[in-house]
Amino acid sequence: MRLILMGPPGAGKGTQAKFVAARFGIPAISTGDIFRANVSQGTPLGVEAKRYMDAGEYVPDEVTNSMVANRITEPDAQPGFLLDGYPRTLAQVEELDSMIASTGHALDVVVVLTADENVLVQRLLARAVTEGRADDTEDVIRRRQEIYGEQTAPLIDVYRGRGLLVEVDGLGEVDEITGRIFAALADVHQS
Ligand code: AMP
Repeated sequence: MRLILMGPPGAGKGTQAKFVAARFGIPAISTGDIFRANVSQGTPLGVEAKRYMDAGEYVPDEVTNSMVANRITEPDAQPGFLLDGYPRTLAQVEELDSMIASTGHALDVVVVLTADENVLVQRLLARAVTEGRADDTEDVIRRRQEIYGEQTAPLIDVYRGRGLLVEVDGLGEVDEITGRIFAALADVHQS
């Protein structure tokens, strides 16, 4: 199972990614988490990524692509993987295509969590209080929504065009949303 979980910032990708990955026995690979781990360890990658993350901008494609290429060739990702927060640009889509093609596999499905932007901004502001993420200030939150609309939302049509897209309503209780995702993935498996 090779799948992508997409959706605007605050749609609950990280939470759902863990449940879906556990269900399929594959790793949930979050580029945001890998960047944050590098930032807290003070690695050169972290130092570079932090400048972009703090502003709500995307880390350059070359940096992100090579990080993902390394991660998905690790042994635990051989049976499959769930990507959370990648790809986010058309250039990343192309790069991921060639990474997967070079292993002789194919992408199975792209799940997109849909949600109203204003609800998401409120959710992220609430998260800022409990988790204190450096990029959860209101200006940065709005910038992240904007850049998602400009650079990442167009990917939805790309994957729809390939017949890989499944849209899931991302508003509601966590377990309700997990149920919707599992149901949508069961349909994919049957077809
Ligand atoms: P996330 O935890 O997925 O919201 O990611 C946090 C931040 O990490 C983003 O706002 C970006 O600065 C950076 N980031 C994560 N994934 C990517 C990606 N695929 N391409 C570029 N930047 C990314």
